[in-house]
Amino acid sequence: MFESVNSVAIVGAGSAGWLTALVLSAYCPFLKIRLVRPRENNPIGVGESTQPDLPQRVLAAGIDLGDFYVACDATMKCGIFYRDWNVVGDHYWHPFTAMADTGSYTAAHHYQQMILEDPRRYSHADYYARVHTSYETCVKRNLIAPEAATALHVDAAKLTQHLERCLTKVEVVESDRVEAVAEGGRVTGLRLDDGKTMTADLYVDCTGFARAVLGKIAQPKSLPYEANVNRAVVASIPYVDPALENHPYTKAQAHEYGWTWSIPLRSRIGGGYVYHSDFCSAEQAETNFRAYWGEDRLRDVEVKRISFDRETLRASWVGNVVAIGLSAGFVEPLEATGLNWTISCADLLSRFLCGRYFDGDARDKYNALMLGYIHDVQDFVDAHYLLSSRRDSEFWRYQTSRKYPERLLHRLALYAAEMPTAVNRVKSFAWAFNEVSWIDILNGYGFKFARVQVTPEDRARAQHALTQIASAARRGVDPQTFSPIQAGTPGARLSGSV
Ligand SMILES: Cc1cc2nc3c(=O)[nH]c(=O)nc-3n(C[C@H](O)[C@H](O)[C@H](O)COP(=O)(O)OP(=O)(O)OC[C@H]3O[C@@H](n4cnc5c(N)ncnc54)[C@H](O)[C@@H]3O)c2cc1C
Repeated sequence: MFESVNSVAIVGAGSAGWLTALVLSAYCPFLKIRLVRPRENNPIGVGESTQPDLPQRVLAAGIDLGDFYVACDATMKCGIFYRDWNVVGDHYWHPFTAMADTGSYTAAHHYQQMILEDPRRYSHADYYARVHTSYETCVKRNLIAPEAATALHVDAAKLTQHLERCLTKVEVVESDRVEAVAEGGRVTGLRLDDGKTMTADLYVDCTGFARAVLGKIAQPKSLPYEANVNRAVVASIPYVDPALENHPYTKAQAHEYGWTWSIPLRSRIGGGYVYHSDFCSAEQAETNFRAYWGEDRLRDVEVKRISFDRETLRASWVGNVVAIGLSAGFVEPLEATGLNWTISCADLLSRFLCGRYFDGDARDKYNALMLGYIHDVQDFVDAHYLLSSRRDSEFWRYQTSRKYPERLLHRLALYAAEMPTAVNRVKSFAWAFNEVSWIDILNGYGFKFARVQVTPEDRARAQHALTQIASAARRGVDPQTFSPIQAGTPGARLSGSV
């Protein structure tokens, strides 16, 4: 059925509702956008580690990034630092880098080949320092590396409040009760608590796990996926030593029965302990979480429990309803893909809506493209568990011996033989992780690549890139004062993570 579209109703006012409004405002200015927000608004309150697409979309919508930064209690995020994922005591680094756009055989690829050629001079342990200038700046010195500072940590509640203030053309409709009226597999309107019915050409379900709009017209198929974790305990942690704890990266530390995240904001740290309910109770998780941060520090802190074992939809656009955000699905917090997934959905939707119509073909294409993205996220996240050498608990013994999707096993075998490259990695649009991201993570597990055929020109170029990285200035910026700090000068914060 062909339908023209000039108006959209977004239901739900969590991050997904407001980010969808942000993207559609920027890319589909012709749309009349209304957002239904319950007066008793109850967003999930997590989702604070983001990817570079967030500031990009903020700018695209004409919002001042400086104001956004201050209003959202933001800090710069240069990457994710992993501790204890392969072996207790080790670490690895997954920074934002422009290297993936520099060819198929990058400095990262070359360094891995050099480990094979000359293991006495080259090692997995030295990889990050030799390939990413941000490693020394961020991880060793706890400073912002400008070349990697492309994303933000944001306060989830302040993010939605600021977007509501800035997106003045989005009409906010308040209603505590929203009932989607359905007929013939389509939504015909939203009945609000004042008795009125609101209509739109397209409805976007951003009601989180409630899936209150899409659920009215369909029971869409879910994707088969075995989640590694399905619960979290979360809290806002007060700083004890901001100079040390306000690091320019998200920290993901593995534990016997799950992992903790630390997301430093300007005024507090967002913290969570993620686990699987088959291996750990909520009480135990909270005990572990409190022990990790210190009983004293968390004495007066409220710890919230979140369960996220909802399935992901195979097709999130059905009829005239698109589910975006947690209503479409979720993998887990690792690698901070939730908001990126939301923005990717809204981006893709905007591309279809620009023609001011949609039909069954548009839906099919949208759903197929988003499926590629979701598989990419699932594979990337799963690799963190599957490849671990940890066997110190039931949790790790299970995660490292269980059955994983054939797709992932095939992918790892291909990458072992050829290395992940711009040629062989899955390039669905939207896509999640590039080939250098894959190498960064695989290196953390001492992944064995085979020797690959490289042209003399590619080899010389990659060798030159490694030499340039070795001599490049390590420019650092203090995360608190934003003052530039040169390598080795007094005042440099040398007490980083390792
Ligand atoms: C433990 C955990 C950690 C996470 N960490 C990260 C991270 O670090 N980085 C990242 O990018 N993502 C992360 N995510 C994902 C991220 O939190 C979500 O993608 C994001 O918050 C979007 O949520 P949402 O808006 O879809 O849902 P919600 O925040 O739940 O919002 C739903 C909205 O719908 C409204 N609503 C509900 N029912 C109805 C109804 N019947 N009628 C009308 N309105 C209704 C609610 O009031 C609310 O406004 C995390 C998720 C979890 C579970």
